Amino acid sequence: MPCFTKKTNNTQQALTKHKMDYEMESLKEQISHYYTEYRYQIEDVSNKIHSNPELSEEETFACDTQCQLLEQWQFKVERNYKGLDTAFNATFGEGHPNVCIMSEYDALPEIGHGCGHNLITGVALGTGIVLKKLLTENSIPGRVTIMGTPAEEKRGCKIDLIKAGALEDVDLVMMAHPSDDRTSQSTVTSGLMQYLVNFEGRTSHAAVAPEKGLNALDAVRLLFNGVDAWRQQLPESCRIHGIILDGGKSPNIIPDTSQADFYLRSFDMDYLLAMKKRFRNIAKGAALMTDTRVNFEEVANSYKPGKPNDVLNKAFIELAKEFGMNPEWTEPFRGSSDFGDVTYEVPAMHAYFNITDQYKDAVIHSKDFAQCAASPFAYRQMGKTSRILAQIGHTYFTKSEFRNSVKRSFPFV
Ligand SMILES: [Zn+2]
Repeated sequence: MPCFTKKTNNTQQALTKHKMDYEMESLKEQISHYYTEYRYQIEDVSNKIHSNPELSEEETFACDTQCQLLEQWQFKVERNYKGLDTAFNATFGEGHPNVCIMSEYDALPEIGHGCGHNLITGVALGTGIVLKKLLTENSIPGRVTIMGTPAEEKRGCKIDLIKAGALEDVDLVMMAHPSDDRTSQSTVTSGLMQYLVNFEGRTSHAAVAPEKGLNALDAVRLLFNGVDAWRQQLPESCRIHGIILDGGKSPNIIPDTSQADFYLRSFDMDYLLAMKKRFRNIAKGAALMTDTRVNFEEVANSYKPGKPNDVLNKAFIELAKEFGMNPEWTEPFRGSSDFGDVTYEVPAMHAYFNITDQYKDAVIHSKDFAQCAASPFAYRQMGKTSRILAQIGHTYFTKSEFRNSVKRSFPFV
């Protein structure tokens, strides 16, 4: 009876699909219900952090405010995490999987929350509390962690946390950043190295005894010329930009010192290391031409290029469509983040959610963007993103096929 068997199979498939759709819908409802329950507290913390902007490594208020709420929610909170004053680690549950959501909360000088990190905090709290509720109400084994990571704008403390072993017991990391562009997946980001280049010459009177001087400003000018000539041969995936921090004290004194500050960026780590070698050679050449001495200071922390996880990205884009966020797959991001280093340690996702809506001129790192970061639209987007991340986290906890495919998509095992 082949025909009958086929019909039965079709019916079973339809029933299975129906059951899965039903489960998915009820999961979505459950997540929305939990988020709504805590929405006021989450938005309140985000708003308070927005109104009290703190610079990198000075984020005591933001750190305390989050820790207090997490303690109230019965997370086990460790302050001064790994010896960093404004880092924290908050966990709920036991064993594995350990799903971690990262929070950032530093602001920019003069501009305040022009990068919208108060909303990253909101997503971390929102995702964390919903996952905690899902674990407890549905008796799901595992741990949810919210990790407070300071100073993204300045020194990149995620790298210090990684070096101190903060990710050794973590299976998955998620974070979401507000954007002035479309809602999008975690993109490739540029690796970054920063150098201070110091030239040392000899001072003398610029009019009376120029022949006795060794001009350190000339060395820095030649460094810039050398870099400009090199720039023509650099691939599109690289960037190099610098400024002069010290170019002398007065025109009538031959400068005996000069200093330049340079960023080198590339999407490729090997290429970035090759750039470093070439850059140093150009600086050495500038020193030779001027008979000055050169030394380099590598500024901590260098950032690795971010490597997205395709499985997590696809899950985010699909859910963002369902939530009406109009997402789009975007090109690699030319900027850099200390999250890049996280992507080398564990499967990780750094998604983006638009918060500017119709204010197209509000570019990130501006006062306009800071205003958008506390708007009702931004908080709605933050809420949707929290629910998406919670759903991805839930799938990771409960579906071994998903967990395995996320692991297979991690390139650094
Ligand atoms: Zn940022």
